[in-house]
Amino acid sequence: MLIIGLTGGIGSGKTTVCNYFSALGIPVIDADVAAREVVQPGQPGLSQVIEIFGQDILTSANTLNRSKLREQIFYDESSRKKLEAILHPLIRQQMDKKLAGLKTPYAILAIPLLLESGRREGIDRILVIDADESQQIARACQRDHQSKNQIHTIIAAQCSRKDRLSAADDVIYNTGDLEQLNSQVTEMHNRYLRLAAQNS
Ligand code: ATP
Repeated sequence: MLIIGLTGGIGSGKTTVCNYFSALGIPVIDADVAAREVVQPGQPGLSQVIEIFGQDILTSANTLNRSKLREQIFYDESSRKKLEAILHPLIRQQMDKKLAGLKTPYAILAIPLLLESGRREGIDRILVIDADESQQIARACQRDHQSKNQIHTIIAAQCSRKDRLSAADDVIYNTGDLEQLNSQVTEMHNRYLRLAAQNS
């Protein structure tokens, strides 16, 4: 099966594009969803996170306090690296489990930090969703009511637009309206069906 790794900066339109692929019957496996699943109560991922950060990292309901964890790793690179070393393989396994048994010609792995995390194995093509920085900021602010400054900080911490585009095998330009976006997804879908047919 052809595996597409979909990525893009904050507010670039990844979720919208994924929804369009889903509507075309293509499975989308989301790394953010997998990341939440592997630290559910009872999962080995949660016990390992507790080993590093202690019981204080839990809420009163014994679930992972994600905002506290984000705070703890924000300024502490070594604990961030430890956390990633635990969670990345678990997230990968979780996504592989979901891929196993799928019968479509291709599938999408939606991995917002694909380029930052260096995860490439098992991915045949990298699809980048691209938008102008001003559009990313406007769309992300409108959706989340985050401040422009917060979005700027996140953009600065992410892979640059230039590096992302140079790593891309395919690009969807989300610089127009939603109709233009949807028609690019349909074109890309047809292209992936052709590529999958050639590979099989
Ligand atoms: P994040 O990285 O923050 O999760 P994302 O890359 O998944 O964001 P979306 O959630 O798809 O981005 O898009 C951000 C917001 O912008 C959403 O409210 C979406 O409806 C809107 N949006 C996306 N593309 C367009 C477009 N071409 N025209 C107008 N609005 C758009």
